[in-house]
Formats: sequence, C-alpha cells, structure tokens
Amino acid sequence: MINSSRKAQFPLLKMGGLTLVAVVVAALVTVVLADLWMQAPSKDLAALFIYLLVSGGISAALVLAWLVFSQRLVGLRVQLVIAYLTGAAITFINILVTSNLMFLSPHDLTLISILLIFSGAIVVFFALFLSKQLVQSVAEMIGRANELAEGNFTVRVKPSGSAELARLANTFNQMAGQLEHSFAVQQEMERSRKELVAAISHDLRTPLASLRLMTEAVSDGVADEHQAAIFLERMRGEVEYMTTLIDNLFELSRLEAGSVKLNLERGTLADLISDTLESLQSQAHQKNQLLAGEIEGELPEITFDSHQIQRVLNNLVGNAIRYTPAGGSIHLQASLKGDKVLVRVQDNGEGISAADREKIFEPFYRGERSRGREHGGAGLGLAIARRLIEAHHGRIWVESQEGPGSTFSFELPV
Ligand code: ADP
Repeated sequence: MINSSRKAQFPLLKMGGLTLVAVVVAALVTVVLADLWMQAPSKDLAALFIYLLVSGGISAALVLAWLVFSQRLVGLRVQLVIAYLTGAAITFINILVTSNLMFLSPHDLTLISILLIFSGAIVVFFALFLSKQLVQSVAEMIGRANELAEGNFTVRVKPSGSAELARLANTFNQMAGQLEHSFAVQQEMERSRKELVAAISHDLRTPLASLRLMTEAVSDGVADEHQAAIFLERMRGEVEYMTTLIDNLFELSRLEAGSVKLNLERGTLADLISDTLESLQSQAHQKNQLLAGEIEGELPEITFDSHQIQRVLNNLVGNAIRYTPAGGSIHLQASLKGDKVLVRVQDNGEGISAADREKIFEPFYRGERSRGREHGGAGLGLAIARRLIEAHHGRIWVESQEGPGSTFSFELPV
C-alpha cells in the first residue's frame, strides 16, 4: 500500500526535478544566445552560466516553496499573483545585478526599471484576470456539488472558461444526470414495492376476512345446515382464489428474478392458437360470445416455450371474454410480419381508458371498471404475460379506445 505522505511528496519531487531541468536548459539557451549575439569571451560566458544557474535555481526554489506552503493557506488567486510577482521580482533583481556588472549608465538603468515595473504590472493584471475566471468556475462547481450532495439532482453547471473547465463541467453534468436517473429508478422501485405490498395485503385480507366470518358462523352454529353448505362452497372458492393469487405471485417474482427456465422448443404457434380457441370456446359460449380465429398465410417455425405461450394466450383470450359483454365477439389472429410472428386478440368489449392502458401491465393493476372482485382476477395476468413475452425477446402491447373494444398484440422473433 502506498503511504499517503509518500504520495503527497512524489509530485513535489517530480516538480522540483522538472524545474531544475528547466533552469539548466534556460541557462544553456541564454548562454548560447549570448555567444551568438555578443560573441562574449568564454570566461564571461561561463560566469554568466553559473550566475544564471544560481539565480534561476534560487528563484525556482522560492516559487516552488511558496506554491507548496501556501496551497492550504491562501486561495488560488493570491497564490498565482504572488508566484507571478516573485518571478517578476527575480527577473528585476537579475537585470539589476547584470546591468551593474555591465556598468550601464544610471539613466539606462532607470529606464529598464520603469519598463520592468510596467511589465510586472501587466503580469499581475493577467494573473488576476486568468485566476478570476478559474476561481469563479471552481467556486460555481463547488456550489453545485454541494447542492448535489444535499439531494438536488436536477442541478447542472454551465460549461464555460477554458477547454478543461468546460470538460469538467460536462463531466459533472453527466454525473449529475446519472445520479438523477438512478434516484428516479430507485424511487420508482420503492413506490412499486410499497404498492405491491399494499396490494398483496389488500387482496389477502378480503378473502381471509370472509373466511373468518364464515368459519365463525359455522362453528358457532349460527348457520343452519343449508347455509353451512353454501358457506363451505364459498370458502372453497376463497381458498382457490388465494391459492391462485399466491401461485401467480410466486411465478411473477420468479420471472422478475430471472429464475424461470424456459423449456424452449422449435415449432409454429398454429397448434397453440387452435388449442386456445378450443379450450375457451365453452366459456365464450356461456356468455353468448362469438370466439373465432385464423392464421394468415403460413406461420414459420420459432423457438418458444409452448406451456408459457399457451398461458399468455389463455390470459389474453380469457380477459377478452371476461371484459366483453354478452353477445360480443372475440377474434384471435396470427400472422408473419417481417421477421416476427404477430398474434392479435381483438374484442369489441368495454375498451380501456388511456390512463388504464399505461398501467395494466403492472402487477396488481386492475382497470377502473374491474376493481370489484366479482370480475375475478387479481391484476397479475398481464404482468406475468409481459414478462413471459419479454423472456422470449418479444414485445406485448395494447391498442384500445374506450367504447369500440381492445386489441392486445404480441410478437415473437422468428
Ligand atoms: P385481471 O386478473 O384483473 O384480469 P390482468 O392483468 O389480466 O388482471 O388485467 C389487468 C386489467 O386490464 C384488468 O383489470 C382490466 O381492467 C384490463 N383488461 C385486460 N384485458 C382487457 C380487455 N380485453 N378489455 C378491457 N379491459 C381489459
């Protein structure tokens, strides 16, 4: 494990090394230029080189020391301005010393000093200007990060300033976007978990309450023999209802956990379609409904779990029968559409409102008109159907307008 103080020292050592190299290179370049332009004697050049090394080394060491020791004490602006000023002061001292050695006239020296003060002022102005932008962007980023930390996930930063700052702002915005999305997903999951628990308790409480009343009536002798027989029959119905509910719930949770293993086989949906029509014919007949179906053209072979797809078909056609008034008609149709097999169950029943349409595939959701238990289902059928179709890499959806009926469709890839 790298110890943190060693980690902190490493950039300092690296910076020191790099600065040393830069001072040596700068001194060498200056000496070469002095040789080229002034053809100074080599003794003077050597003296100049040593002088530059010493003064450059001291200046670099001073600036570095300042940067290191001041980084926690003062802000970026003061740090930069003082570093620039130190650089300018050192240049000034260098020129003073060298000009003295070169015996410049006091007049020239004053002019050089004035020019240096002028350039020093410009350097400080630029340092202030540059650092202002930097400090403002960093301060804004800190403010936004604090808001984010307090739970405001909609917060974003306007990318501005240099390319790096704009990139940092974009990265910050991306991070905030992802956090916002994850938070929304988490809230949605929490909401549906609560709704699910409430729905399960509600759906179990009602039959359990009626079971308790009926058993009490029978055991207390309040119900006579005839009533007791009726109660027993009803109790059987309630137990059956609860068993189906628990079985469906278990199936749904296994599907959601991805632990249902599909028994995949190759074949066409033709047999399943005719089996569904056959098995639900009597149910439709009881309601005086017309249940018919057809296969358009020839269906290609696909890979599917026939037991599970049969279940989906039974659910869709069963619902169509249940939610279509007596005398209505239900039409089941299968065809090849592009590279998908499309199955449609069309009825001319009560239809589904737009608000219900968005939710009927959610567990325990029952449309406005089917809330009463006399309609039967617990609102798990379509939720299971959707997960089964999705497990087959297919898609299921509904089209409906209130009044003229509903069409449930699903497609499976060929
Ligand atoms: P349920 O057990 O209540 O039938 P489903 O998940 O199968 O549960 O259906 C959810 C809801 O979708 C139903 O309560 C009903 O409101 C609506 N629904 C499903 N099929 C139809 C249909 N063919 N016509 C009208 N409404 C339907």
